[in-house]
Amino acid sequence: MVARLVLVLGDQLCPDLSALRAADRTRDIVVMAEVMEEGSYVPHHPKKIALILAAMRHFAEELRAGGWKVAYTRLEDPEAAPSIVGELMRRAEEYGAGEVIATQPGEWRLIAALADAPLTVRQLPDDRFICTLEEFNRWAEGRKELRLEYFYREMRRKTGFLMEGDKPAGGKWNFDHGNRKRAQADMLREGPVRFAPDAITQEVLDLVEARFGGNFGVVRPFWYGVTRDAAQRALDHFAQHLLAGFGDYQDAMLEQDAFLHHSVISMYLNIGLLSPREICERVIAQWQAGLVPINAAEGYIRQVIGWREYMRGIYFREGPGYVRRNVLRHGRPLPAMFWGGETRMNCIAHVVGQTRKEAYAHHIQRLMVTGNFALLAGIDPGQVHEWYLAVYADAFEWVEAPNVIGMSQFADGGIIASKPYVSSGNYIDKMSDYCRSCAYAVKEKTGENACPFNLLYWDFLVRHRERIGCNPRMGPVYRTWDKMDEVRRRAVLDGAARVLGDLDAGRIV
Ligand code: FAD
Ligand code: SF4
Repeated sequence: MVARLVLVLGDQLCPDLSALRAADRTRDIVVMAEVMEEGSYVPHHPKKIALILAAMRHFAEELRAGGWKVAYTRLEDPEAAPSIVGELMRRAEEYGAGEVIATQPGEWRLIAALADAPLTVRQLPDDRFICTLEEFNRWAEGRKELRLEYFYREMRRKTGFLMEGDKPAGGKWNFDHGNRKRAQADMLREGPVRFAPDAITQEVLDLVEARFGGNFGVVRPFWYGVTRDAAQRALDHFAQHLLAGFGDYQDAMLEQDAFLHHSVISMYLNIGLLSPREICERVIAQWQAGLVPINAAEGYIRQVIGWREYMRGIYFREGPGYVRRNVLRHGRPLPAMFWGGETRMNCIAHVVGQTRKEAYAHHIQRLMVTGNFALLAGIDPGQVHEWYLAVYADAFEWVEAPNVIGMSQFADGGIIASKPYVSSGNYIDKMSDYCRSCAYAVKEKTGENACPFNLLYWDFLVRHRERIGCNPRMGPVYRTWDKMDEVRRRAVLDGAARVLGDLDAGRIV
């Protein structure tokens, strides 16, 4: 019988993948390929590239041990084609294969490349999720607003997670209200579990340093897990040592603690080393054993079966043009401070510095520091999207784009966010210790020394009053502006114009 090729991409490292389930290990050839096109369509953080390549190489070994024949192409192989499709064509010729079985990629770019390939490629649904795309579309059909909360409740009912019959456990669907505590710098936290790189990973680190060393970000020290076993240990460590504080401190930010009570497992989950279901089951087991409070368990489950699945549904429902949405018509180029250029803003310097070191920032750092600044300053959302896609180890377009284009930049006009996520410096001061050592004064609302967030916040609202002002939730904010005396309003807008002028001129802000 003629062999078929089974494509396994770098974010599909799961033995239960639909393409592997549809194949025959006695006859078919698994194709895995490290190709330059995937490594460079945005300037990925070297840690992200290292994670994916090291995890791919380990997964290929596991497949071989399980009896699969794997045709694996390394980045440094001289005969390697530059693209996934090129590799498939090369392997099809080598093995005389007539058909390719693939699991649908998580990016329109690759879905189209496979569909257009001069080969027969069968793209199977990616069923590593709680909600199928058909189910999401059925839920969304005919609704005026696609609010997460209602989708989330559907997912709770579907999975039975944290349900007591048809009622939510603890009597409420959502315990977010109290989840706004400020973290103390002297609180001892375990942090994520760190893994020592083995020989396979060390080889990848050398390769990445040599080939991608010029990209933003450092590859060493490298402590991510790169196998399913390691990812399960990371999950277990989180559940035992950090989950209990997840609810209370999920919005907190500290200079000395990048991870706080976060799980730091999105990078494992998104490449297939963990499944959403097993993560939730582990979290629920801790709650059932009375070891973590309901606000922690519920807050966490909402992220995984709510936000994550909802983002995926939106990405595929909105189509390939979603990443180019720009309803606010923002066009300013991304400032150099996002790539580590000098800035006097301590919050930005800190989050960008942490991102450079770890390829990680938690949700509030992404949303309310870098995202908030980009939106207030009117940065081109396409450039913001490419930045997030490049710099985070967990960034794959299906989850990154709706978070950036929709939730963070409001560039989709409100499909995801009911109002723009913007704030003055006050929010950052409340949730972090960044402002204490900043060159700007967070309490100052006007003048040279005023926190740029304080100035840009009002400038943004004034610029977009026509679109945003009619939103009832924004009413009180606009009323505050209207009540401000004219001299003060002028000083705020002049201050904002000075900050934006400095950004445009490439001066340090
Ligand atoms: P935790 O805080 O411990 O949360 C648990 C899990 O919930 C995460 O691992 C993740 O899988 C899931 N989750 C939480 N929030 C979201 C969300 N909004 N969307 C999807 N899943 C969520 N997440 C990515 O996985 N990839 C991205 O490229 C990405 N880009 C983002 C860009 C912006 C501007 C924003 C605001 C958020 C982005 N997120 C992204 C969501 C979130 O910030 C990360 O999932 C989270 O910080 C990962 O760290 P963690 O594993 O410690 O998460
Ligand atoms: Fe950021 Fe403003 Fe605080 Fe400085 S004062 S850290 S710029 S929020």
